[in-house]
Amino acid sequence: MKDRYGRVIDYVRISLTDRCNLRCIYCMPEEGIELLKHEDILRYEEILKLCSAFIKIGISTFKLTGGEPLVRKGVPEFIRELKALPGTREVTLTTNGVLLGKMANELVDSGIDRINVSLDTMDAEEFRRLTRFDKIDTVLDGIDKLIKLGYENLKINTVPIQPIKPEDIIKLADLARNKPISVRFIELMPIGEGTEYSGSSSELIMSILEDKYGLAKAYQGKLGNGPANYVKFDKFKGYIGFIEALNSKFCGSCNRIRLSSTGFLKLCLHYDYGVDISGFINKLSVDELAEKLAEIIYDKPKAHMLGHKTEHTENKRMNQIGG
Ligand code: SAM
Ligand code: SF4
Repeated sequence: MKDRYGRVIDYVRISLTDRCNLRCIYCMPEEGIELLKHEDILRYEEILKLCSAFIKIGISTFKLTGGEPLVRKGVPEFIRELKALPGTREVTLTTNGVLLGKMANELVDSGIDRINVSLDTMDAEEFRRLTRFDKIDTVLDGIDKLIKLGYENLKINTVPIQPIKPEDIIKLADLARNKPISVRFIELMPIGEGTEYSGSSSELIMSILEDKYGLAKAYQGKLGNGPANYVKFDKFKGYIGFIEALNSKFCGSCNRIRLSSTGFLKLCLHYDYGVDISGFINKLSVDELAEKLAEIIYDKPKAHMLGHKTEHTENKRMNQIGG
């Protein structure tokens, strides 16, 4: 479907839970969060019904996120059911990787189309500082396991947090040098706990990488559903990507909406605009739901105002929004 500004909306990020087994400093407070009650979280059947309605209005690419989506029970089976809906184009997952090793076989068998692993550093000490947990080996083993299983649709998402170390950036990029996976550097957004930290510009990351590997070639093709720009370095098996939410606004071509784990349909990452649709799911038929969703999504805001506070600025944390 198109919104009032003519943008094609075809992608929804679905948060399966606000719970997480890490506490990234820029995403969640150390003491954790007040957890939602189980009865407030949408059941899988409810999400599937909503997805059938999304498909009817042309939104057929589903990204599963969280909190940490893999801490919710039954995710592989849910992926299988979501993929089996007539009209689903793609089901992808973003995860911190902690449970990947344990769940790799099940996930590959579920038919998941792509897995993005969030990994902000290759340094064990820094991983502990950033996530407040000592789990880097568990995450790296999980990535290796997926690769050993022959799973190829893997990306690494990195949010570099100051102070960054050039050698760490190079080690992260080396994942794309040695393996056929893409590594994407993402600008930290001033949302929730993120307001307390500084990220890194893509120019800085690029200069570190070009100093080491020579000039990169821009890649014009499309990889995935997101707003990343990709480059390729000589002899790299994978691509290096950059996502710059702040520097280059991509709102004009934004294709996405977000569904929280409690059923709040959020129209723009930065705004608190949205509608709680949890109350409609069981009352309406799939066709009626589709009509309702289309009405709500039509009003997606034109652009974000990151960097400017407005009365509608989002005050939630990223673990509640899903990234
Ligand atoms: N737990 C999963 C994970 O870490 O991939 C899924 C949820 S997490 C909120 C999704 C993504 O949002 C992660 O890649 C995380 O690094 C990113 N994120 C969290 N806070 C952010 C911020 N303030 N700016 C940019 N990215 C952020
Ligand atoms: Fe958890 Fe992901 Fe937030 Fe880190 S970024 S605290 S892994 S939800």
